[in-house]
Amino acid sequence: MYKTLNCGELRAAHIGQTVTVAGWVHRQRDHGGVTFIDLRDRSGLVQIVGNPANAAAKVIQDARAEWVLQVTGVVRQRPEGAENPNLPTGEVEIDVTACEVLNPAKPLPFVINKDEDVDENVRLKYRYLDLRRERMQRNMVLRHKVVKFMRDYLDERGFIEVETPMLFKTTPEGARDYLVPSRVHPGHFYALPQSPQQLKQLLMVAVIERYFQIARCFRDEDLRGDRQPEFTQLDLEMSFVQRDDVLDLVEGLFTAMIPAVAPHKRLVSSPWRKFSYSEAVDRFGSDKPDLRFGMELYDVSDVFASSSFMVFQNTLKSGGVIKCLVVPGCAEYTRKEVDDLTSLAKEFGAKGLATLALSAEGVKGTAQKFIAPAEVEALQARTGAATGDLILFVADKRAVANKTLGGLRLHFRDRLKLADKDVMAFAWVVDFPMFEWNEEEQKWDAAHHPFTMPKMEDLGKFDTDPGSILSDAYDMVCNGYELASGSIRIHRRDIQLKIFQLLGLKEEDIQLKFGHMLDAFEYGAPPHGGMAPGVDRLVMLLADEANIREVIAFPKNQAARDLMADAPSLAMDKQLKELHIKVDVEPPAKPV
Ligand code: ASP
Repeated sequence: MYKTLNCGELRAAHIGQTVTVAGWVHRQRDHGGVTFIDLRDRSGLVQIVGNPANAAAKVIQDARAEWVLQVTGVVRQRPEGAENPNLPTGEVEIDVTACEVLNPAKPLPFVINKDEDVDENVRLKYRYLDLRRERMQRNMVLRHKVVKFMRDYLDERGFIEVETPMLFKTTPEGARDYLVPSRVHPGHFYALPQSPQQLKQLLMVAVIERYFQIARCFRDEDLRGDRQPEFTQLDLEMSFVQRDDVLDLVEGLFTAMIPAVAPHKRLVSSPWRKFSYSEAVDRFGSDKPDLRFGMELYDVSDVFASSSFMVFQNTLKSGGVIKCLVVPGCAEYTRKEVDDLTSLAKEFGAKGLATLALSAEGVKGTAQKFIAPAEVEALQARTGAATGDLILFVADKRAVANKTLGGLRLHFRDRLKLADKDVMAFAWVVDFPMFEWNEEEQKWDAAHHPFTMPKMEDLGKFDTDPGSILSDAYDMVCNGYELASGSIRIHRRDIQLKIFQLLGLKEEDIQLKFGHMLDAFEYGAPPHGGMAPGVDRLVMLLADEANIREVIAFPKNQAARDLMADAPSLAMDKQLKELHIKVDVEPPAKPV
């Protein structure tokens, strides 16, 4: 071994011993001819002292930032006053007796030893350097701990990890597939799995009973801040379970894991709260509510049943609703601030925003002259709004009112700092609609995925009212994020067939794409269900990062490029020929 112990492990107990360490030059400084180096490896830093009386000191003197050194020396107590209580190794230093440069380094594109803001493109180009920084090292270790905890917890409960193929067939989760051409089957393509969904269900038919996998998923979709073309989820599936069996298992895992891997985080409630999809949307304006703060939405349509306000009247007459949000302590907002809120409301889809300010000098706001004192009183009784508060109203279709006020609720979360970043407010959202109407293509889409079991009591509505069918799907939400989705699955061929038909798949397509699933369901498929918590987003939250790229070792940028290796890149002519592929782009792609 190049080292007898790690840099960060040195303590007073080692004083007097001769040790060998190896690592990177974190910092170097000179004090009257004596050279000091902080040598760093993954475990931490240790101070190396090169006395000019010693020949080895010359090597230390010449070393520069991020050179790799092997240092042998005697551990000694630091002189009085030179101790560093902020460093675990701060009591000691190594008096160098021999030093070898294992590899020098060029001047770096950015500093490693300080947490400075560096352009993300530069960070991603030199990711191997970026990952050396303390913050990124911390994130990588945290990610490892999270995954290890998951594995251990599930192993103790009878789950086994099974690897499923990357080269497979389309596994729809609502995105585009990444295709991989086959050389030996000209014109044929594998699809990278959008998730192991079908495979884990087939494992249930295969009597695995309790499966999990730290699974890589591939989805070709337009990227947003918290999306990557490939990402990792804890994929799991269980046989002979009902919804709450799956929820209990996952809730138990997360409740045990958070204190173990991120002790500074606090879980809000145990057991977690559970909302139906429609309740979540009605109360918080979102199916992934941030429950770290209150500020719920209220339906006040009944309060305004005989309102003189034309806008309210017309909305109610046309079947819409009047909903409101109470913003604490903001009654004195200026005209301009209210105008900005109205613009924001329009961005969320509302036609406008009516306001009522319960100011100390009396009631004000754009809706003031249309709202009777009795209505103000009723509003206060319903919502608990008090003097000093600002009430925002949206009169519109229910979905628009919910979406707008839900958006404003999050706006005020950030503006008024209502949410504590160290709180993890987990909850379950259940009873999702089974289908969503796709306006563009004029057809039904599966809201979760097509393998989700519809509620048995809704099976009769297939031909009459598919939009009202609920499913046995569930989401795990936390702090405004959807951290996991899952469902009880269809295990009967007849129901699965019905779903595919309703989704508009033709008979031959069903057979071509999903024949293996339908076949499997005829050989003793057990009832089963599962879910898949996303690892990247979870680690992002636990690490207090704002973007999942910070917790992925080698992420793509927002244009889906790997800037370090410069991927994707052009293929060689020879490769394309072997794959029977002609590239048709303008200007023509040049072979590499
Ligand atoms: N396959 C689903 C997904 O990737 C998760 C599940 O239903 O278990 O979101």
